[in-house]
Amino acid sequence: MTAKILVSACLLGQQVRYDGGGKLCEDPRFSRWQAEGRFVPVCPEVAGGLPTPRPPAQIRGDRVVTEQGEDFTEAFERGAEIALQAARAHDVALAILKQSSPSCGSLFVYDGTFSGAKRQGEGRTAALLRKHGFKVFGEDQLEEAERELARLEREGTVPKR
Ligand code: SF4
Repeated sequence: MTAKILVSACLLGQQVRYDGGGKLCEDPRFSRWQAEGRFVPVCPEVAGGLPTPRPPAQIRGDRVVTEQGEDFTEAFERGAEIALQAARAHDVALAILKQSSPSCGSLFVYDGTFSGAKRQGEGRTAALLRKHGFKVFGEDQLEEAERELARLEREGTVPKR
């Protein structure tokens, strides 16, 4: 069986980032997984209704806000739900999401000061996926993701959620 992977659309080079650009991941494993048809791309922020480009936002307390204090929390939460639905609909084995994003970050996020500083933590989408049992990796953890894929395929089990 070929296990599917939920992936941040910007890592495939789709121009969905706040600045209107993409963030293509050039690791050969990425190209291989793409050629194998494994990827289910999603941009939670665009899916949640935000435009591209858009003002950068960061997590501050329990809200997601811009530097000017505009509150994007609702759109981020809507986007996270849509990403979860996509993960379920395609029975993905795991997710590989862009590190440090307030939606997709899985180990680190920007710290809410807009100074470029990061802290340990997860974005809204990564947190919701994990809450529902999905394993989430950053593009800086492809070795771990590859090991997990190999394990699932060896065992022939992609868990249903
Ligand atoms: Fe990339 Fe995620 Fe940000 Fe969309 S929300 S641009 S997929 S990091």
